[in-house]
Amino acid sequence: MTNFICEYCNKTYANKSTLSTHQKSTKRCLEIQKNLNKKNDVIEYNCQYCNKIFTTRQNIKVHENICDGKKDFEIKEIKINYETEIKELKDIMTKYETEIRELREIKKDYDYEQKLKNKYIFEIEDLRNTNEKYLEEIHRLRETVAGLQGELKSANKASECVYDLAKQPKNNITNNNGNTTTHNNNKTLNISGYIDFKNIDKVKEIIDEKYDINYILSGQKGCAQFAAQYLLLDENGKYVYLCTDPSRHSFKYKNEIGEIEKDLEAKKLTNYLIDGGIQEKAKNISLNWCQNDGIIDQEKFTLVSEKQLSIMNIKENNNEFKRELSSIIS
Ligand SMILES: [Zn+2]
Ligand SMILES: [Zn+2]
Repeated sequence: MTNFICEYCNKTYANKSTLSTHQKSTKRCLEIQKNLNKKNDVIEYNCQYCNKIFTTRQNIKVHENICDGKKDFEIKEIKINYETEIKELKDIMTKYETEIRELREIKKDYDYEQKLKNKYIFEIEDLRNTNEKYLEEIHRLRETVAGLQGELKSANKASECVYDLAKQPKNNITNNNGNTTTHNNNKTLNISGYIDFKNIDKVKEIIDEKYDINYILSGQKGCAQFAAQYLLLDENGKYVYLCTDPSRHSFKYKNEIGEIEKDLEAKKLTNYLIDGGIQEKAKNISLNWCQNDGIIDQEKFTLVSEKQLSIMNIKENNNEFKRELSSIIS
């Protein structure tokens, strides 16, 4: 027994003619057949935008050009492109914002520095002004110093002249004096006291106490008067130091152990006064005497400087001293 099977719907029939009848008349089978044919014979074209189906290439091309879906699609595309662009722009913006923030920080620092700079400029200006004032002050002081130096120079010059004058030996006077006082030649020493030229402390003390401006204003004569009054008298008011030869300025004295000694040219006595600090004392007293509040009185200065210089020069030239001494104690 051979079965005939419908190739469309799989129904079985006993012979070929009943199958054929079935295939031509059964509604369900015909449907299946129709569907199968369509698939096999017809090519379908789907619209890429709206999924509508077309049977020919021509039709779908015409449709796709005017399809509403196409516009939507294109808009969507454009939107996507814009969104991408916007995203990129946003990234760039973020970058710029960061940069701006950094620049603001830098500007803040810069502004602060500028502010400091301005402040310093003012301070520098102030300092410059102060400096200028000081320079003016220095200039003024320099001029004052120069003026004072000029005054000092002329004062020194004056004192140099006086000094030179004082250094000149006054021989004619000495000779005259010598000639008139020769009567003391053979004077004998009748001295009870003595003089000790080694006792420097004693002479220092006496000079410090008794030597004053009045003696200084008499120059070397004053030295002689001072010595005669305070150093050469014994307790009885007699001289312990005598002039034995006024023409040669020869002196004699009794020393501390009772021996008679010579003092030629009164050199020992002169040195005794120098050791006792008479020159230093004369200098200090003169200086004090001729200045008032640090300003030198020119008249007093002229008056005292000659005398003082003759005292300063007494070791080299004691002519006036020994002449005066002779006339006092002979
Ligand atoms: Zn069938
Ligand atoms: Zn479409």
